Formats: sequence, structure tokens, C-alpha cells
Amino acid sequence: MSIYLKKSGEYMETCIFCKIVKGEIPSSKVYEDANFLAFLDIRPLNKGHTLVIPKKHYETVLDIPDEDIKEMSHLIKKISQALSLAIAPDGFNIFCNNNQAAGQEVPHLHFHIAPRFMNDGHTFKWSHGRYKEGEIELIQEKISKFL
Ligand code: AMP
Repeated sequence: MSIYLKKSGEYMETCIFCKIVKGEIPSSKVYEDANFLAFLDIRPLNKGHTLVIPKKHYETVLDIPDEDIKEMSHLIKKISQALSLAIAPDGFNIFCNNNQAAGQEVPHLHFHIAPRFMNDGHTFKWSHGRYKEGEIELIQEKISKFL
């Protein structure tokens, strides 16, 4: 029986990235320390596309403790630098999908670092919305209240 416990921060039996952490399934690791792991995405946007994960199972950025995400952001920069030197792309995207609605397929927090090349055929375009008169101020205030 599976022991999939949401947001426990502990080892998740059914989580594919937890299995990578435990060495139960193979991965092409580029970096590992006590708390984090970085490995190549098996279905890369471009070659060298790397995923950075915490070893503990957190589902989204809202679940990881502040201290850990701080450490993780340093690591993301470090790996971006290594990737830039190794692959020499024209640019790179760093992104993190949070929850299914945002395109998260693997519910274990991960940041993508994807090398980009001029005219590589990929786009990050969306149809731009518009605010009605006065709406932007309302939303600005709504968000600010929680900060
Ligand atoms: P996301 O849509 O943000 O959840 O992205 C999940 C990513 O994990 C996808 O880009 C997959 O190609 C990648 N992925 C899934 N399984 C593996 C695996 N076993 N090893 C490496 N990458 C994987």
C-alpha cells in the first residue's frame, strides 16, 4: 500500500523524485549535497535542461521552509552558472510550476533551469489579459494586505 502523505516533508513512497533521491531509480546527477539534488531532465526543453530539487518532499514553494528556499536559490544560481559555462547557451529560463493548474506534473518541488538558444523554436508566450478601470489598484491592495 502506498503511503503518499501530502506535504509531510518526509520520504514519499510513490513520488518519482523521492525515488531518485533514494537511488531507487536512476538519474543523471550533476550536483548533490545533504539537502539538495540536481539532475538532467529526461525530456529536456534543450540539452542540459536541469532540475533542482530539495531531498525532502515538499510539493510547492509554499511548503518549503524559508531557510531551505534561501539555500536552494543560491544553488539554482550556482547551477545556472555551471550550465552556462558547460553548454554556452544564448540564455536560459528558470521556472517552477506550482500545482497542476500551473503545469506541475511531478508534485515534488523542483526548479527547471533550461538553456535557450536564439531561434530554438520554444516560446514562453501567453495571451496577455487586461484590467478593467480601477481593477489593478484593487488587486494591488488585495495582495499587499497579506505582505
Ligand atoms: P513539471 O511539469 O514542472 O512537474 O516538470 C516535471 C519534469 O520532470 C518534466 O520536465 C519531466 O520531463 C521530468 N521528469 C519526469 N520524470 C523524470 C525522471 N525520472 N528523470 C528526470 N526527469 C524527469
